[in-house]
This record gives sequence, structure tokens and C-alpha cells, in this order.
Amino acid sequence: MDDNRRILPDFLHRAYTQIINDTEHLGVSVVNTLLPGNLTGIYDEATKLILIDQRLISAQQRCTLAHELVHWEHADETCSGTLGSKIERHARMETASKLIRPCEYALAENEYDGDAYAIACELDVTVQVIEDFRTYLAMSQDMAGQRQNTLYRI
Ligand SMILES: [Zn+2]
Repeated sequence: MDDNRRILPDFLHRAYTQIINDTEHLGVSVVNTLLPGNLTGIYDEATKLILIDQRLISAQQRCTLAHELVHWEHADETCSGTLGSKIERHARMETASKLIRPCEYALAENEYDGDAYAIACELDVTVQVIEDFRTYLAMSQDMAGQRQNTLYRI
């Protein structure tokens, strides 16, 4: 398979097992197992293997799998050091943007008065992903603002 062309299927409204089915042809294997400590998932670029902790509840499974698949998409090899934290931050933002549609988020935020836990339940994601999505939205708005400023300067 051409490593430069890794394209993920749509995660929106797809359950954990559906995402596994959707990605079967990508050459990446997903194994449920017991992971040490607080680890929920691991991606190994050398073997194209994703490990998912078997004790996770369904929203966690789904979000962890999506996150590890984003690492696969970018062929991420490290999660340590400065580069690692940059990669990790990027993967988290991208995962949130792939799991949540902005209009659905806006409706849920209205409906549940901004309660992250209730919004997470409604959208079948983790609270962490909701927090990442909020950061993602804030960053997108900052970037849009900067573009606007550049335009005004010209
Ligand atoms: Zn990660």
C-alpha cells in the first residue's frame, strides 16, 4: 500500500465495530486487550497495529479507535518529547473534528446549557473529546481572526 495516501473513512455516527469494519481494508489491525496503567489505546507504526483497552465503555472505545486511526493516517511514530506532545495535540484536535459535526455540537450545547458530560453522552463521545473540540473551535476562530487581520492590513 502507498504510505503517502492514507485516507480515513468517515467516523461520524459510526459505532466502534462499524469503524473497525470500515477500516479493515486499510492494512491496519485492531486488537482489544488489557493495557497497563491508564492507557486506553496504542498505535504502532512499525506493525500498523492498534491496541484498544478491553475495559473501555463504548464511547471511549469509539473515540480511542478514532484517535489511534488519526495517528495511522499521519504515520505518527512518537508520542514522547516535544515533537511527541505536538503530534499528540494535533491528533486530539483532528480526532475531535472528525467525531463531531459543528452544527450538532451547537445544538447539543444549547440543549444542555454547555454541560460537557451531557453533551458528550448526546454525541456518543468522551468528555475529553468535547474539551478537545472546544479547543479546536477556539483555534479555528483564532485562525479565522488572524486571516481577517491580514486581509485588513493589505
Ligand atoms: Zn495519541
